[in-house]
Amino acid sequence: AKKSARGSVRVFDESMDGAIRFRRAIEGGLSNAIEAGELRLVYQPIVSHDTLEVVAFEALMRWDSAEYGSISPAMFIPIAEESNLIHDLGDWVLGEALTMLERWPGQYVSVNFSPRQFRRPNFVGHVVERVDRAGIAPSRLQIEITETAIFDDAERAADTLYRVRQMGFRIALDDFGTGYSSLYNIRKFALDCLKIDKSFIDGMGRERESAAIVQSIIHLGRALGLEVVAEGVETEAQVQALRIAGCSHLQGFHLSRPIEAARATELAEARFIE
Ligand code: C2E
Ligand code: CA
Ligand code: CA
Ligand code: CA
Repeated sequence: AKKSARGSVRVFDESMDGAIRFRRAIEGGLSNAIEAGELRLVYQPIVSHDTLEVVAFEALMRWDSAEYGSISPAMFIPIAEESNLIHDLGDWVLGEALTMLERWPGQYVSVNFSPRQFRRPNFVGHVVERVDRAGIAPSRLQIEITETAIFDDAERAADTLYRVRQMGFRIALDDFGTGYSSLYNIRKFALDCLKIDKSFIDGMGRERESAAIVQSIIHLGRALGLEVVAEGVETEAQVQALRIAGCSHLQGFHLSRPIEAARATELAEARFIE
């Protein structure tokens, strides 16, 4: 019995070790990824529901690692977020996204900022400087944050968001409905947009609960004068249900998958999803 107990301890140790080694490897790979040119952005259209006009693109990171192959941001962003790497990655993303704005006629770009980026000292000053240098109108940059970014220190977050808004940037609350104290957050903070999490859109056709939640978020958003984006729209049935519910904007594979920069520019010029 003793032996097997020790054996299982060793197995546990080895798997811990493996997890740590894997993380270190990803960290190492990521820290070279920018210089190695392994990162790129893809752009997913956000369209207005009534006309299917493309009003914006969400910038999404892709990492094609020479060593590990294509790695999902869902995997590497949390690892970057636990180290200072997230700042370099975030700066790179912002630079790329601002370059795209010069090529698009009028759309805005929606960029994901991790909680750690958002809490960085002088976050606002930093973004302002980048946007100024690019000569871009602040209203063409939407800052997407999740409720985790504001959860820890709501007072400081409120102050940051207020300044972000005063500088003329747009603010979207991402994955809305999945975080803590959602209602508190939208009462307290200056926002432009709510993005309804995909899980509610998925559930809409199946459960009364999800449909009711989607409907209430849309009502709430409209009453507060916010844009409401349904995320992860995959079917025509969802498009119809969201029309009836009065949802102003759509994003998801049914409208368009995330696309390469050159195609995004073509679509930006065409202005409408066919
Ligand atoms: P997110 O911000 O919630 O982004 C939406 C995710 O849903 C994207 O996954 C997108 O490709 C995917 N998606 C969009 N429409 C559909 C659909 O109809 N069906 C399905 N199944 N999926 C859909 P992606 O690109 O893999 O990104 C995953 C997450 O990684 C993002 O979730 C975001 O949290 C993070 N991320 C991606 N790029 C960045 C970045 O530049 N900075 C930061 N901080 N995080 C990023
Ligand atoms: Ca997002
Ligand atoms: Ca989201
Ligand atoms: Ca998400």
